[in-house]
Amino acid sequence: MKQTIKHFKTEKLIRDKIPAFLKSRGIQVHAKAIEGLEFISKLKEKLVEEAREVLETSDTHDLCEELADVLEVMYALSSASGLTMQQIEKRRLEKKELKGGFENKIYNSSVLIDENNPDIHYYLNKPKQYPEIHVSTHEPDCIFCKIARQEKETVFFAKFKHCYIIKDLFPVSNGHILIIPYEHTENWFTAKEEVRLDMMKALHLVKEQLDLEYNPQGYNIGANCGEVAGQTVMHLHLHLIPRYLGDMEEPKGGVRGVIPSKQKY
Ligand code: 5GP
Ligand code: ZN
Repeated sequence: MKQTIKHFKTEKLIRDKIPAFLKSRGIQVHAKAIEGLEFISKLKEKLVEEAREVLETSDTHDLCEELADVLEVMYALSSASGLTMQQIEKRRLEKKELKGGFENKIYNSSVLIDENNPDIHYYLNKPKQYPEIHVSTHEPDCIFCKIARQEKETVFFAKFKHCYIIKDLFPVSNGHILIIPYEHTENWFTAKEEVRLDMMKALHLVKEQLDLEYNPQGYNIGANCGEVAGQTVMHLHLHLIPRYLGDMEEPKGGVRGVIPSKQKY
């Protein structure tokens, strides 16, 4: 029988015992030792790769695994660069003294700055990291825009790149939350794809949190799109409604209940 061998590009630093491990699995490895600045540069890339993996974790076990990887790369990078971990630890404490740590859990969602303030260049020079929020994307009388801009005192359940999570003011059930984009857009179908994808990612992560906090036995996910569909706040929001055994007599039909006479079939 004809055998096809496939070839994959990897281009990354790997731990010392990995080549032998891959060989034992029948995988050919094209690898060589690299030195000096090239090694340091690849270690920096590795640090970013490992740190990015931290983002994907959703429980403490996975987090521990990824943080251990980050730390291993930190040890290697500091040593290759002629630094000791003691030096880094000393500098960490000095910076903490100067700027503080993260004990107060302060999350900065935006800054307003006069265009004549010289500090403005710090933000202008990093447009990807600090995109300018255009006022036109906000509706002055919209309650969810006001919450996004922190013009209304609100406890945030969580915040993501394009959306924030709050508890519904009039919850249908314990733990009913809303997933809301910062930027004003009327409904799911008018939202940018990037925003919708971030909202879906948030939906999954927040569900895990609700599982832990409320332990529901089910969920309803919903978006009312348009007044005839029952939308009252005309700024896109997804409802995530935990459901509990016995929370209504006959739950059959679920979201079909938008037209109550058609809920059961
Ligand atoms: P919909 O537009 O999907 O029909 O309903 C809007 C939802 O937003 C309702 O479930 C309502 O309870 C919730 N809501 C309206 N105003 C506020 C508010 O100021 N804060 C919070 N947390 N929820 C709100
Ligand atoms: Zn709005």
